[in-house]
Amino acid sequence: MTALQTLSPAPDSILHDVFGYDRFRGEQGAIVDHVVAGGDALVLMPTGGGKSLCYQIPAIARQRAGHGVAIVVSPLIALMHDQVGALHEAGVEAQFLNSTLSGEAANAVEKQMLRGEITLVYAAPERVTTPRFLAQLDSMYERGKLSMFAIDEAHCVSQWGHDFRPEYRALTVLHERYPGVPRIALTATADAITREDIVERLQLQEARQFVSSFDRPNIRYTIVEKKEATTQLLRLLERDHEGEAGIVYCQSRKRVEDIAQMLAREGIRALPYHAGLDAQVRQANQDTFLREEGVVMVATIAFGMGIDKPDVRFVAHLDMPKNIEGYYQETGRAGRDGLPAVAWMAYGLQDVVNQRRMIDESPAGEDFKQVMRGKLDALLALAEATDCRRVRLLGYFGEASGPCGNCDNCLSPPEVWDGTDAARKLLSTIYRVQQLSGISFGAGHIMDILRGKKTEKVAQFGHERLSTFGIGSEFSEAQLRGVLRQLIATGALAVDAQAFNTLQLTDGSRAVLKGEMQVQLRESVSAAAGGGGRQRS
Ligand code: ADP
Ligand code: ZN
Repeated sequence: MTALQTLSPAPDSILHDVFGYDRFRGEQGAIVDHVVAGGDALVLMPTGGGKSLCYQIPAIARQRAGHGVAIVVSPLIALMHDQVGALHEAGVEAQFLNSTLSGEAANAVEKQMLRGEITLVYAAPERVTTPRFLAQLDSMYERGKLSMFAIDEAHCVSQWGHDFRPEYRALTVLHERYPGVPRIALTATADAITREDIVERLQLQEARQFVSSFDRPNIRYTIVEKKEATTQLLRLLERDHEGEAGIVYCQSRKRVEDIAQMLAREGIRALPYHAGLDAQVRQANQDTFLREEGVVMVATIAFGMGIDKPDVRFVAHLDMPKNIEGYYQETGRAGRDGLPAVAWMAYGLQDVVNQRRMIDESPAGEDFKQVMRGKLDALLALAEATDCRRVRLLGYFGEASGPCGNCDNCLSPPEVWDGTDAARKLLSTIYRVQQLSGISFGAGHIMDILRGKKTEKVAQFGHERLSTFGIGSEFSEAQLRGVLRQLIATGALAVDAQAFNTLQLTDGSRAVLKGEMQVQLRESVSAAAGGGGRQRS
């Protein structure tokens, strides 16, 4: 083996001769060296960071050193095809094994693999863990011809990730069955809890972790309060992105259709994409988006995985996503060419309520729901933030940074007002109403009481008798809504989706009531302009 090893070229020359690049980017070089030397690695690198080379170059180096074949576990058929195609162009022996191959073709690949004639074999996780495939790996392992494993999209192993795939769980077998064969797991999304889960589930406790910066400096983050969402979107597209390619994410299929039609009526080249569309239509729309210039894709989150279009100039969220990972992943599709791009999101109290309800009504266990609520709260805190968005976003992934100068809050610092007093008054109103009537009420009614509105409902329940009736008349409805969102975001107040979205005090309410917690809020511009606020019952 030593003779071969001396013949094997250095990773630098593979980078240059095979892939045509001058130098490694970021952590790539260190990762490659570590895996070539037989170490395990967990790689966290943002989309577009260059994860593929981190295992492709070690696979080539180890193959040339006589270690045999690398197995790449990948969940996406389209991605496998792209990668294998690109490797062929670079003159590297690579094949894939997935359901698109005929039995005969698969057999041929397997024979080649057993003879050690391929450098990389891409396979779906469910195939890798079949007894038949494991038997083939056994045979290669015994002959020292199983060079390494790469586990792409490693967050799929975790139910805390955004794309849990149960098949990934069975991959622990690789470590147990083939000790000593280096494994490299890669992902572009992993907050602390997902990362820990990956390490545990894939038994990567001994692996070295390589965490790249998740910053995408060319993306400008902007998060606005939702008022007339469609008008806001239209203004954004017409004012800043005329003729540019972008993605508009919506919560539901129906909304996707409506928005795509609305944009089309306004003369914008918009196409819908969601899982409910005919497969052919979906494919055609995707192809148009990729091939033609200036197409706006209006989509649910079904769209985007594995889509590599460099010149997406904006990603707009018309509804709030589930969590920060989702937000980061989706906004990350903007500006992959490194040129300025925009991530824009509109959010409102209704989004919070909808997302809460989806969590509450999901069939998952209570632990899971608790984690999901925590993740939603973190996203809300990002939306409500009055300081740098990027600092918050990167902080969520464990990365420290300074104010970026390229987000809405850095560029035009929002007016901040102290909502501590309003928050205390809201919470004590909720408390007193509950005491008096024995039931809870929704946001509209609570705000009416605080602002001293004599609505029918107020009269019906005798709520004008409460000591808090009218003590918040100086606050606008928009201001109070802001306070409510902030309280919900920080867990000082809960919305009970099962009981008509009524507001419920939590353990966290006490600190606010006692004045131990400051509530800083963004001043909503239109709140001042809007005057007295709308009457609600
Ligand atoms: P990821 O899988 O992390 O999203 P890819 O592996 O697809 O990223 O790489 C993104 C792009 O960057 C690809 O076009 C790739 O060829 C290019 N790339 C990766 N590493 C380098 C490098 N060292 N020098 C130049 N280009 C690179
Ligand atoms: Zn900033």
